[in-house]
Amino acid sequence: MEIKKGVAVSPGISVAKCLVIDAEEYRIPRREIKASQRLVEVQRVRNAFRDAAAELASLEAGRGGIEERSIKDMFAVHLRFLHDRSLRKKITDLIQSEMVTAEFAVSSTLREIASHFTKVKDAYISERAADIYDIERRLLKHLVGEKREHLQELTEEVVVVAREMSPTQTAGFNKDYVKGLATDAGGRTSHTAIVARSLGIPAVVALEDLTGSVRGGDTVIIDGNRGLVIINPDDETIKQYLEYAVEFVEMEHRLDAIREKPAITRDGVKVTLLGNIEFPGEAEVVLQKGGEGIGLYRTEFLYLNRQTEPTEQEHYEAYAETVRVFRHRPVVIRTMDLGADKFTQSKRFVREPNPFLGLRSIRFCLQNLTMFKIQLHAILRASVLGEVQIMFPLITNLQELMQAKMILGDVMEDLDEESIAYNRRIRVGIMIETPSAALTGSLLARDVDFFSIGTNDLTQYTLAVDRGNELVSMLYSPVDPAVLRLLRTVIQDAHKVQVEVNVCGEMASEPEYVMLLLGLGVRKMSLAPPMIPEIKQIIRSVTIEACNRVTRKVLGMNSERQISIYLRDAVRSVLPEVF
Ligand code: PEP
Ligand code: MG
Repeated sequence: MEIKKGVAVSPGISVAKCLVIDAEEYRIPRREIKASQRLVEVQRVRNAFRDAAAELASLEAGRGGIEERSIKDMFAVHLRFLHDRSLRKKITDLIQSEMVTAEFAVSSTLREIASHFTKVKDAYISERAADIYDIERRLLKHLVGEKREHLQELTEEVVVVAREMSPTQTAGFNKDYVKGLATDAGGRTSHTAIVARSLGIPAVVALEDLTGSVRGGDTVIIDGNRGLVIINPDDETIKQYLEYAVEFVEMEHRLDAIREKPAITRDGVKVTLLGNIEFPGEAEVVLQKGGEGIGLYRTEFLYLNRQTEPTEQEHYEAYAETVRVFRHRPVVIRTMDLGADKFTQSKRFVREPNPFLGLRSIRFCLQNLTMFKIQLHAILRASVLGEVQIMFPLITNLQELMQAKMILGDVMEDLDEESIAYNRRIRVGIMIETPSAALTGSLLARDVDFFSIGTNDLTQYTLAVDRGNELVSMLYSPVDPAVLRLLRTVIQDAHKVQVEVNVCGEMASEPEYVMLLLGLGVRKMSLAPPMIPEIKQIIRSVTIEACNRVTRKVLGMNSERQISIYLRDAVRSVLPEVF
């Protein structure tokens, strides 16, 4: 039995056999196959060569031909290898003679060639070994990627263990079979973590070298409450965890019982609790958990996991399905937040050097007007069905906001010309998730109906810490004094000009931060649906006066650690039975 500690990102307990997904690390074990499977593996190699060459060609085309000579040479060398029949034959011969998997044949053949290269005295040739490793990685990516598709075809319950998982892959999990997720990489607010939480799959990330310690088929416990992964637990541990899992579910059910009760503090202040969703089907869960509407619909998930872009009608149907669940309640539709870690299929190979600082989100929309207008058209069409609101993500300055609003105006004119009904007075808001927006809230406020603070990105951009990078996850905290000062500024500015302010980042779903947010003046939050009952319970157990005291104290502290410990103790003192 081995216990690994990581970062808990989605609560719950699961015990199941593990399925290891080989990823970037590519420790490909020698696995033998049956004679009857040889042709299948040979075909997989052919497909991987074909797809890798196509990927490389599209990558080269996407770079627009202005690259340095060395990069052009590199593409040429890689493509020559990928079109080299003798190389492919060497690999497929190995499959036929040794009866091994395609992955193993690719890896061992290319590594053998690379090791020959490194022994050559000529620097130019020996440096080509790096190219061979690159080609190996590219081919394996296609082979492993192909295997990931098979996650759809599971027939028994598993816990997925991987180096990393993209949000798209996680979104494609079949919840009936995938009972838990553990990854070497990732952070608490990475989109993968957010999706796992939305799906209600217990998950732990940032486990560093977990994939090196487990083998497919090992029994694994995922403790998504404490951030633990236990490999090959003994019988006693399994028994304890199965009991704990039952207790946890019972506690969740007890909390669900407060569904009908309002989120009102002990001194009578009403707080509105909404839900964050990625898929229309989740709106029902928000309702079941007692949410009063949708505060953040991450519509970019409509583009993921599919080969073609969604049509206007598909957009409309997704929005209509969501609005039908909350007909007289707000449904805030965030326009697509593509880029960074979320790509459409056609853009998935066009990688930017610093994607989180690149063509992401509203910037992407403003450069892809056809796509943007299709989405706005559908949102406006759905606006007559209920209380639809529009929210623009990642606004960094007033010009961007005005441009986005101008496009919205153009689409409204199109609808007028087409005689299609829509809500002319649709509420338009922006996400405050960059320090620049937080610092200029008073300038932006005049042109919007509401702010929604995206603490996930605001923390990342304020502290210069990639939210999904486990190597710096200890530096990532929404209660760092710098982030808190920005939060205070935005909330105060919003109150001054009477613009509604909501918090929809994961911070609002964390029990230990609720008192602080209430003390900062937040009265509306949008949460991961499973967290609504617990957060409501805390709200019902505190007074605003106590929250104000906690917040005053915290704003006087100078270290994140001190603040975190203090906030945890504060919430424990009001709700000891939950913590
Ligand atoms: C945020 O950044 O806090 C946010 C809610 O948006 P997302 O997590 O989708 O980036
Ligand atoms: Mg964001």
